[in-house]
Amino acid sequence: MSLMRLKVLLTALLLFTLALAAGLGIAIHWRPTLPALASPSAVRSPADDAGGLQAQFFGTSTVLISDGRTRLLCDGFFTRPSWLRILALPLTPDETRIQQALALGGVSQLDAVFVAHSHHDHALDSGRVAARTGAVLYGSASTHQIARADGVAATQMRLLQPEQAQTVGGFKFTAIETPHSPGAVFPGTIAETFSFPARLSAFKEAQSYSFYIEHARGKVLIVPSANYRVGAFANVKAETVFLGIGGLGKQPEAFVQSYWREAVLLTGAKRVIPVHWDDFGLGLDEPLRAMPYALDRVDLGLQRLQDLAMQHGIVLQMPRAFESFGL
Ligand SMILES: [Zn+2]
Repeated sequence: MSLMRLKVLLTALLLFTLALAAGLGIAIHWRPTLPALASPSAVRSPADDAGGLQAQFFGTSTVLISDGRTRLLCDGFFTRPSWLRILALPLTPDETRIQQALALGGVSQLDAVFVAHSHHDHALDSGRVAARTGAVLYGSASTHQIARADGVAATQMRLLQPEQAQTVGGFKFTAIETPHSPGAVFPGTIAETFSFPARLSAFKEAQSYSFYIEHARGKVLIVPSANYRVGAFANVKAETVFLGIGGLGKQPEAFVQSYWREAVLLTGAKRVIPVHWDDFGLGLDEPLRAMPYALDRVDLGLQRLQDLAMQHGIVLQMPRAFESFGL
């Protein structure tokens, strides 16, 4: 090959690489602006005056529920590795980010951490968070493998048994098996050979759960993943539903209607708080932003929920990270 031809080839390769990098950059940063919905903390709830339950949101489906004495945490995902890291490098819990998020949220002690499924955006930090806060970790056998690889003792873990209520302080919580949102990646279970650092594909989904939390002062349902099983919530009566909306904007209208009916209408919920809408490739040291267009249509999902909420007289509120609000 002549020197001239080699130069042309190298220039073409360079231009192609630059174009690809620019394309990926745009794809990762191009995202919808979300509708201006009130944050739950901006609206005074009767629970604030009556000493009711309090909640706090930390992005994805990490939700803290407290009665002032006992604190339960769903998931506990704070590391939020960047997309570059997620796609190219093995993952490991980030101690600094976990400590910072817990400190910003004023969380020093927890009683229970329960995990929706063992994908990285739910389970990566769950063992570490349980260990740091003294909580008992409740999860599938696969989630236990992730926590075990992070040094959590078996005595600090309980296997989630679907439909069997667990009592923690004044709370009773029940894991209900519900399917992952459509198009889930990495099915299967995690073997004992799991170790950190681990590739994204090592975080296999295993079983997926929603959580029904009952207390004398209120009842709450958390549906981390946007999907439904007909009749799954037949025994659930909840005032507030934390409703996972990841991927919902890409689903057919009939799917959204059925999901709303099962999780909201049939449970008698008066208030819906969407979760799992934020870009979890961004750290919690910046404001939560919607998933990029390349991965989701959060704007469409929320628009449909707004229409349904209006139609059925249900309050729809968008939570902000770290803010506490009454339930
Ligand atoms: Zn998942």
